[in-house]
Amino acid sequence: MNFELDEPYVEIQRQAREFARSIEPIAVQADEMSEIHPEVYVALKESGLSDLMVPAEYGGRLERLDPLAICLVREVLMATSAHADSMFALQGIGSYAITVAGSAEQRDEWLPKVARAEVLPALALTEPNAGSDLKSVTTEVVPTADGLSLSGTKSYISNAGAAAFYVVFAREESGYSMVLVPADAAGVSVTPTPVLIAPHVLGDVHFDKVRLPLTARLGNPGQGLGLVLATLGVFRVSVAGAAVGLAQAALEEAVRHTRTRVQFGRPLARLGPVAQMLADCWTEVEMTRLLTYRAANMAVDDPAASLNHSSMAKLAASEAASRVVDRCVQMMGRYGLVRDSKIERLYRQARPMRIYEGASEVLRLGIARQLTEEVQ
Ligand SMILES: Cc1cc2nc3c(=O)[nH]c(=O)nc-3n(C[C@H](O)[C@H](O)[C@H](O)COP(=O)(O)OP(=O)(O)OC[C@H]3O[C@@H](n4cnc5c(N)ncnc54)[C@H](O)[C@@H]3O)c2cc1C
Repeated sequence: MNFELDEPYVEIQRQAREFARSIEPIAVQADEMSEIHPEVYVALKESGLSDLMVPAEYGGRLERLDPLAICLVREVLMATSAHADSMFALQGIGSYAITVAGSAEQRDEWLPKVARAEVLPALALTEPNAGSDLKSVTTEVVPTADGLSLSGTKSYISNAGAAAFYVVFAREESGYSMVLVPADAAGVSVTPTPVLIAPHVLGDVHFDKVRLPLTARLGNPGQGLGLVLATLGVFRVSVAGAAVGLAQAALEEAVRHTRTRVQFGRPLARLGPVAQMLADCWTEVEMTRLLTYRAANMAVDDPAASLNHSSMAKLAASEAASRVVDRCVQMMGRYGLVRDSKIERLYRQARPMRIYEGASEVLRLGIARQLTEEVQ
């Protein structure tokens, strides 16, 4: 057993830290934006980290995507900027179905651009009336005389309006399919979603009888759900990585504050209940980091088979991050409440993590199902 990261992973962490340092002065501004921050985008391109999201054959860095490497980058980025973390993560989340099931032409056209961060992708699953219950989507792809026609509305789509293409989950006669839709196709339009407590580049994407060639399908008709699962297999655990990074950053804020602020003649950190909160936070950060790294390491070999562990890591780390950051605000008293202070930003940013890419309750159902099926 070895709990140390191998040298290539350490190097990836180093690159991620450099990227994070370069955007630190604009992080507050970027994290309040519901549109792409141009300087963060340039910094992402210059970091070269987007090449982790594409296999080497199409201009990426590694032979295939490495969930542990992605996890490590997200851990570092989330500690500085949720905006940067999301921009990095979407490069993979939005393009992975092309990597797995795209035709040679689709891969050649898009993946090298994703690797160089020349384009931003988007994955469009959610609809106004279909969130956790993905099978209830109504967006539909139907055959026409010379191709396909796509109609429906997707909501709360990351990178909407900025993306060069949308990978869209839709129903058709044979089941659920994925289609690749260039953002400039006729009939595609974007409207803004409400601004969230922790702003995010989001929009609703409307497809009004969008005409597509038959070759717009990713994989075969009916392969859509499998492609969603494949994407989650690689990327769900990376949300856990981001949550660990967020919790670590919150704890560092609380440590700094409680070591120097004196009340009742002692630093806060030496007052019993505060010391207990610090200890509980550190313990939770370490526990969830270990679970996350293990799940990510399992996913390196077989993302689909380890989805259950990825779900556990995402559940544990996102729930822990919320607890940790809440305690940290408590330890910092009124200073923890200052709008746009680091801790206040982290407090808001922790909340959505328990909802997107599998709400905690939905993950628990899946984990329990797997556990009980295994013992039958
Ligand atoms: C910041 C952000 C970015 C996003 N980006 C994207 C994106 O890029 N692409 C995309 O397609 N979507 C995106 N989404 C949407 C996201 O995937 C959905 O919010 C998520 O799937 C949950 O769906 P919902 O919000 O409709 O909640 P609902 O499905 O309405 O669920 C609400 C709550 O009900 C409970 N619940 C639901 N089902 C069950 C169940 N079976 N058992 C027990 N409890 C249950 C849970 O507590 C859940 O939180 C994003 C959302 C956010 C907040």
